[in-house]
Amino acid sequence: MRAAVLTPTGTPFAWTDRGGEPLPATAEGRLGAPARARVTQCALSRVCGVCAEPLGRPIAFLATPGERDRNAVHAPPMHLACAEGLLAAPGADPSWVLLRTAAFEFVRPGRDEVETEPVFSLHALL
Ligand SMILES: [Zn+2]
Repeated sequence: MRAAVLTPTGTPFAWTDRGGEPLPATAEGRLGAPARARVTQCALSRVCGVCAEPLGRPIAFLATPGERDRNAVHAPPMHLACAEGLLAAPGADPSWVLLRTAAFEFVRPGRDEVETEPVFSLHALL
């Protein structure tokens, strides 16, 4: 696991577009929504949403309490150290909680579902 928290551009991998440009921040100066294509890449290639390096275990996620309670997390999987770094970063959502798991399922929305973005369903929390 690498200690690097952010990508060379200074923005977490999954929060940039394909060109590596940071996505727009929220009005409060927080990270905006992660880029869907990058989130999918993290899920299918099992790479970290912050540093883009291969994931080990435990796998860490940052979720709002609501996401945690629904077990439907929008932010991508991360190394534990990367998630801890992002949690402490100025752009972090203050409501985020850190979750640890050994496995997850990537759930893409069906055509008629309320949820329109892919989400991560975590298996047993560690
Ligand atoms: Zn990482």
